[in-house]
Amino acid sequence: MDLKDRSACSGIILKNATVLTMDNHEVLQNCDIRCRDGIITETGHDLAPGGDRVIDASGRYIMPGLIDGHVHFDQDYMGILFLAAGVTSVRNMRGYAEHEDRIRRIRAGELDGPYIESTGPIFDGVDPNIPEDDNWIVQTFDEVERGISYTKEHGFRFMKTYPSLRPDVYRFLMRRCADEDLPVSGHMTKTIRHEELVDLGYYCCEHSSSLPREEEVIRYCAKAGMWYCPTQLVCETLPDYVWNGKRLEDLEKWDVLPGCVQEEWLRRNEVISESYRKQNIRPDIRVIINRGRVFMEHSDLVIAGSDCAYPGIIPGFALWTELEKLVSLYGMSNEEALLAATARPARCMKLGGRKGRIVPGMDSDLIILKENPLSDIRGIASVETVVRGDKVYTQEYFARELEKVHSLTGITEPAFGTGTIK
Ligand SMILES: [Zn+2]
Repeated sequence: MDLKDRSACSGIILKNATVLTMDNHEVLQNCDIRCRDGIITETGHDLAPGGDRVIDASGRYIMPGLIDGHVHFDQDYMGILFLAAGVTSVRNMRGYAEHEDRIRRIRAGELDGPYIESTGPIFDGVDPNIPEDDNWIVQTFDEVERGISYTKEHGFRFMKTYPSLRPDVYRFLMRRCADEDLPVSGHMTKTIRHEELVDLGYYCCEHSSSLPREEEVIRYCAKAGMWYCPTQLVCETLPDYVWNGKRLEDLEKWDVLPGCVQEEWLRRNEVISESYRKQNIRPDIRVIINRGRVFMEHSDLVIAGSDCAYPGIIPGFALWTELEKLVSLYGMSNEEALLAATARPARCMKLGGRKGRIVPGMDSDLIILKENPLSDIRGIASVETVVRGDKVYTQEYFARELEKVHSLTGITEPAFGTGTIK
């Protein structure tokens, strides 16, 4: 490890930047930020260096590190990609023992990567919508209890459900998770009414495609205080790759992926596309965007998420595209979109007092940008330097580490489970 580039020192002072605090619309001009031991200790003008390492940020914009509100951090290589894109925290949407281990290694400094909060495994009923071997089919109250125990034992603070849980099992799970303070997120329901699920405390709807069809039901969910994560980019992969002739190889950041992951994505994408073509599934993307827009008319509890690393969704960098889509397709202002990737997901992850805003006392997760994303959301792609905790990551460091990632070999799909709860 070259300490020059990714230095761990107790004090850093970032000088003379325009600071987008993401707190009460506040933008601070010619502002310095002091960080010590991974915490923002002070903001203000002309702070004395006092022995801290000085980083000149004149002419630059500093905002809180981005939070990707929906990821599957299933392979180690993804960690440096997140950081290179300015993503300093993630909400991992399916957690097993290996994720607990990854969280530990990142915390210990053995692996470069973002801060992680995770759900436990995905719980589903028989006749699953998305048959995946790794999801847990839960059919009895006893299995619900074991699922809750597993989730808590591994240090995960959220639960995730798919829509096919049997009504009595779903109601029991919702009540028990409320007792255990484990918020439940996922693809909502096809077995009980959406209104009832939300009344039972359903915490966050993942994907625009999981929102209810009827506008009044969407309004009910929004007004009840449920969170919502659109993941627009992944919703578009079906029409784009199956019907619109889009190619993975044309993705702007395709080359940052390890060669073996590129091969794996091409193979999986072909299998997925073939199956959709056979079934002639042609979703109208405008329909699901409209559902999201209805939600946003009644609530600002919206978080940006990418759903990486589904084929076509490149860890870290896909969040930039997602933010552009929240502005161009959902009509969010640039500031709303930035909030959806900072202060809002921090609150959703129950980290509002630690992350997502630049205020003394918060974690020093910061990104330095060349361009102002408040004036043009595409400015988010001008990430220059990333501070996460007490570490400073430079472009030189990223270039070297991404080169290593690209030449990795032998990464295969991880196998988590057997589909039956242990
Ligand atoms: Zn997902």
